[in-house]
Amino acid sequence: MAKRFSVSEYTDGILAGNRVLLSRAITLVESTLPSDQALAQQVLDAVLPYAGRSVRVGITGVPGVGKSTFIEALGLHLVRELGHRLAVLAVDPTSQRSGGSILGDKTRMNQLAAHQQAYIRPSPAGRSLGGVTRSTREALVLCEAAGHDVIFVETVGVGQSETAVHGMVDFFLLLMLAGAGDELQGIKKGIMEMADAVTITKADGGNEQAARRARVEYQNALHLFPLAPSQWNPVVTVSSAVTGAGVPAVWQLVEQYVQQTQESGYFQRRRQEQNLHWLHETIRETLETRFYARPDIAARLPEIREQVMNGRKSAFGAAEELLGQ
Ligand code: GDP
Repeated sequence: MAKRFSVSEYTDGILAGNRVLLSRAITLVESTLPSDQALAQQVLDAVLPYAGRSVRVGITGVPGVGKSTFIEALGLHLVRELGHRLAVLAVDPTSQRSGGSILGDKTRMNQLAAHQQAYIRPSPAGRSLGGVTRSTREALVLCEAAGHDVIFVETVGVGQSETAVHGMVDFFLLLMLAGAGDELQGIKKGIMEMADAVTITKADGGNEQAARRARVEYQNALHLFPLAPSQWNPVVTVSSAVTGAGVPAVWQLVEQYVQQTQESGYFQRRRQEQNLHWLHETIRETLETRFYARPDIAARLPEIREQVMNGRKSAFGAAEELLGQ
């Protein structure tokens, strides 16, 4: 078994930017063992005063749109030219330890992963969406405490994970392909509505014209949405991760957004709201985990499930019965 560090060893290590301890602490927050969880919470409490000083950006788009290539290009720009320290986290509820993860693939973002000022962590595996988003949110806090001043949270643009990621970031970026059509890309209107910026990817070679046309179409479509509470008008851009064209411009948009919303006070207000949201989410997730982990509940559950499936008990009655146990 690996050595167990103390709370102060974790805390000092993380604050000193020690990647090994950062990784070990993230493994703790991902663990479902009650003893790991307890230690993780102590570490989180200890580093919390040093967290929060980053720009958090959510990045989504369907598989194949070019997320990893784009993140690597933008990430290298941030660390090499702008001197930022970047952490890339992922929320991918389909990810499994045994492989098959879209976002956890170790071969992705090689150059960025090798850079001293970048830290890349794949999605925690084998948990519910609630579990994955909670540990990602906690990992985000740990990365900030370790001195990362830009955090990317990547997710696949196909399901509910977008809403979860939107709830933990300041700025939400949607990557789209030209000419594929919304339906084809499986992008729901709700995801479009969350976007602070849309970037049409792969605008290079013979694809440039189509990308420019798509940009106009999406910009027109976004104008039809009501103005967001941030008072920010979403912008559509084109970029190529291969040539690098349009990549730094995306970061300029993020900076503009941060400046505008910090001046209006929206930035801070939204972070407060997000903190409250996570309080309630954590309570819900913790209660649920503890409930199902109870031996008496686990013992009764199969029979009750059977009765509910066969219509011999109502779902509500059965739930009441278990909760009252
Ligand atoms: P992800 O599944 O969204 O992470 O997409 P990837 O980053 O893995 O990219 C999917 C494919 O598109 C890969 O074969 C990339 O080489 C290619 N690709 C990504 N970005 C670009 C780009 O800017 N231009 C071109 N021409 N191809 C790209």
